Amino acid sequence: MQLLIMGAPGAGKGTQAAKLAAKYNLVHVSTGDIFRSLNEMTDLGQQVRRFMKAGKLIPDDLTNRLVEERLECNDCMDNGWILDGYPRNVEQAQNLDVFTNIIRRQLTCVLNIHVPAEKLIERAIGRRICKNCGATYHVKFNPSKVADVCDSCGGQLYQRADDTAETMKNRLSVYEKNTRPLIDYYKQAGIYAEIDGTQTIDKVTEALFNVLSSVKA
Ligand code: ADP
Ligand code: ADP
Ligand code: ZN
Repeated sequence: MQLLIMGAPGAGKGTQAAKLAAKYNLVHVSTGDIFRSLNEMTDLGQQVRRFMKAGKLIPDDLTNRLVEERLECNDCMDNGWILDGYPRNVEQAQNLDVFTNIIRRQLTCVLNIHVPAEKLIERAIGRRICKNCGATYHVKFNPSKVADVCDSCGGQLYQRADDTAETMKNRLSVYEKNTRPLIDYYKQAGIYAEIDGTQTIDKVTEALFNVLSSVKA
């Protein structure tokens, strides 16, 4: 199964993608995580961080290439994958269509988590991530048992450099302009499903499982 999880910044893509990956044994491919893992001592790592800090999209050429390299790996080819944070504009979506045709791994379903803009800033600003295992928490909606310590591995939690009110403004406007048009793109392809992302994390997971139980793998 090849899934795509969509939604505005802070909608809950990463949180839910991790649960879907675990349930269906898929590889969780997050472009944000790939970019954050680039070595910050290199020119490329520095450039990417500047785009991210400004809330701008990384250029398509680089983004498409990194995704293709990842999806070609054996684990993805063998198990299927869930893409999180890609595509983010119509050009990337077209590129993905061409590529998935070549590798014969077309998208099974596109899941869009819908959350109204006014809730997204609070979600992003309260987000905390484990430095060690990448688990995601929220100071109010999904707090760790001990402040700033990961429940599952004991790692230290940190706040992303782009999870500020200021950068979120740009990220939300980039979403409206570039990413939202993908909804119509995938509706036309007939593989689109929308989920109410304002529910609790567990309820959203349940809704996603329900959608997928009716989708043929
Ligand atoms: P969120 O889900 O909160 O929007 P991500 O971790 O997916 O955050 O993305 C963080 C940043 O990484 C984006 O604001 C952008 O700068 C960059 N990025 C991630 N995915 C893409 C992509 N597909 N194309 C271009 N830039 C991307
Ligand atoms: P995205 O990958 O779409 O940017 P995340 O999964 O990282 O979003 O979630 C953003 C923040 O909101 C995190 O701190 C997460 O714990 C929290 N969160 C995710 N889903 C929900 C939800 N349904 N209700 C409340 N908070 C949520
Ligand atoms: Zn951890």
